[in-house]
Amino acid sequence: MLPILVGEHGVFEVLVPLEIWLVFSVLVVVAVVVVPRLLPPTGPSCTRCSGSGSVSERWPDPTKPGGWHELNGICPKCDGKGRLRR
Ligand SMILES: [Zn+2]
Repeated sequence: MLPILVGEHGVFEVLVPLEIWLVFSVLVVVAVVVVPRLLPPTGPSCTRCSGSGSVSERWPDPTKPGGWHELNGICPKCDGKGRLRR
């Protein structure tokens, strides 16, 4: 079948060497780091867009070209999710 897996110590010792556990540990760490980023935020509603995820802002701002701050579309504070991360 798979003779390379069958060593002199038996199949199970060969199937789960230290390297596998190292790789497994790395995968667990990656999952812990990545999964919370994939899940939607569960924190309080965004204060900038009031939870809608989109903004329509316009107010005088001398530092901007034209003298106005204008922003329409995805809320930059919550990336359009409407909620903040805890
Ligand atoms: Zn927002």
